[in-house]
Amino acid sequence: MSTAHDEDHEHGVRTRLLMLRAEQSVIAAFRVRVYELGWSLRGPVGGVNDPVKMACGEGHTANAKPISVLAGGFILDSQVGPLPQAELEACFTCRRKREEAEGIAAFPKYASDFDLWVLGDEKTQYGGPAKTVRCLAGHVFTVPAVDPRLHWKPSPHRDLLDLKEQNPHEHPCSTCKLIRDVPKIASFKANADAQGTMILEPLTGRVSQRVAICCIVGHLSQIGINQGHDAEVMCRPCRTGRTAPPHDVFYVVSGTDAVTGVPTVKLGISSGAGHKRLEQHATVGLSQRHLVRTGLPHGVARTLEAVLLTHLAKEGWKRTRGDEYFPAEALPTVVAFAENWLGADQFETGAASEGTSPLGP
Ligand SMILES: [Zn+2]
Ligand SMILES: [Zn+2]
Ligand SMILES: [Zn+2]
Repeated sequence: MSTAHDEDHEHGVRTRLLMLRAEQSVIAAFRVRVYELGWSLRGPVGGVNDPVKMACGEGHTANAKPISVLAGGFILDSQVGPLPQAELEACFTCRRKREEAEGIAAFPKYASDFDLWVLGDEKTQYGGPAKTVRCLAGHVFTVPAVDPRLHWKPSPHRDLLDLKEQNPHEHPCSTCKLIRDVPKIASFKANADAQGTMILEPLTGRVSQRVAICCIVGHLSQIGINQGHDAEVMCRPCRTGRTAPPHDVFYVVSGTDAVTGVPTVKLGISSGAGHKRLEQHATVGLSQRHLVRTGLPHGVARTLEAVLLTHLAKEGWKRTRGDEYFPAEALPTVVAFAENWLGADQFETGAASEGTSPLGP
């Protein structure tokens, strides 16, 4: 009787000892892990299930149970409540702040990658830094002043929930996206390009918009997207004159662009004497003429424009707006390339056998 009681007692003591040792090793592991993760303890350590107050190097506090070193524990953050991930972790607040700082530091690169011109400082609705920017097409909008591509992962539930989340690797201008996605507006732009017609105001993404245009000759007129997207001749004066003018002028002008406020060089093509078109540029500050070649054979001006744009892109020149506006620093490159190309008989003129250009200045 007494022997059985002693055995029971001994068994109980041994079990309690084992439990105690297990708890002690969990707590020891907890202390080590807490230290490794950059926390320091700010309160007494009790049992494995008693929350312990901790602080990170920055003084952000959190509570964790020692048991959380084993899978299935959890940590409480004073600012965000229970963390979704149920493990002892490095300070969430610190990580978020570090990622924010990295995002802000990377914003200039982001703006440059997407050709955004920064116009001014703003605040997001949460009080974070934001910037008012303008895209190359002239749309002005506000974005958070962070590079959203950093630390971004597509939501795993994206397809499941049919989430329309913004992909940060896409251009952030929603108006540009609208223009790309509305077929009529996209073909309006393509048609203007094909006809050498300048669109003088930013497209708004609305099909009902009437747009001021400057044709290849230099006529100013207006046309709606609905009429212009498939018009054979977009320019009204040219249409009534019933002649599709040839693209036989190549020009380079410069000045301080009234639209961007930036010293700018503009290259382009025109028709006839090209002067009306150049006058149009002068009205926005691009009044200095560096190169005006008229009477070019069919296709030459257009081809030169295309190869020159490719050349500038290869050299890393960034556009200031539209397709053919570049910082004034690019002027020597632009003029040298164009003169070299035009003088190098890269086109069939049928009259250039003397080695001199048949084209007047
Ligand atoms: Zn912290
Ligand atoms: Zn845009
Ligand atoms: Zn015209």
